[in-house]
Amino acid sequence: MRRFILSVVLLIACTTPAIAGVNVVATLPWIGSLAQELGKDKVSVTVLVKPAQDAHMIEAKPSMILAARKADILMYNGLDLEIGYLPLIIESSKNPKLMPGQTGNFDCSQFVTVVDKPTSVDRSMGDVHPLGNPHYHFSPSNILRVAEGMSRLLAEADKANADLYLANYKAFAGRMKEREKQWHAVPLKGKKFIAYHKYFEYLAPEFGFQIVGYLEPKPGIPPSAAHIEELIQYMKTTQPAGILISPVYSLKEAEFLSAKTGVKVMVLPHDVGSLTGTDDWFSFMDKVMASLK
Ligand SMILES: [Zn+2]
Repeated sequence: MRRFILSVVLLIACTTPAIAGVNVVATLPWIGSLAQELGKDKVSVTVLVKPAQDAHMIEAKPSMILAARKADILMYNGLDLEIGYLPLIIESSKNPKLMPGQTGNFDCSQFVTVVDKPTSVDRSMGDVHPLGNPHYHFSPSNILRVAEGMSRLLAEADKANADLYLANYKAFAGRMKEREKQWHAVPLKGKKFIAYHKYFEYLAPEFGFQIVGYLEPKPGIPPSAAHIEELIQYMKTTQPAGILISPVYSLKEAEFLSAKTGVKVMVLPHDVGSLTGTDDWFSFMDKVMASLK
């Protein structure tokens, strides 16, 4: 009997979800990672996009709408990266907290100094970055400001635990300071790289290296044979240190380029969890910097 009662108690303990202060839905893995880091056990975080997925090519699914329906806060990348699915999710969720203009609608890019801002938007050219480069999660300086904004938002949404969120941000900022020292010790100054996609436009100026060419002729457009041929000629004269690619893209063209030029292919994670050992934002950045080394 005793054993039976113990089993029942254990069963209840295991099946009752932990009661968290704030129910967060994040579009991308890095956003979910930040929310978890700043909210710890006071938040429950659901991430809509899987690390192995290409963030530019996501479609809305019923499970995403269901998650949004129960959310207190929706956190997203912004700069139109989620334009293909997020407006539909917000509308279908019928959750008044997430509507544009409400505090539960949290665009992380509001804290970012955006690079590559186009003077005119022309989607007919296939550009998937119509409002400027959306990949600021590779940028420690921008991520620090996003984290600060996020901690303030959590403190506002869950006033009883406000001090905790702000203390978690302080710890995050301290960790950032330490890690930045290590990352800046990686000798990248003056180096040139070729990249598949425009993922590194924030990282490169922050760490003093350059992206001098792309496999994609325009973000979101796969390379043509003619474009690859041009790149081969260009790489023979510029001698870049590597070809940077993320696991969401086919390695075929990059390996072909590598074979023709002798420049090695370097696979970098594009988001938290996309390669082994990148379970949170810090380890993601560690991996990025270690790969560039
Ligand atoms: Zn992109």
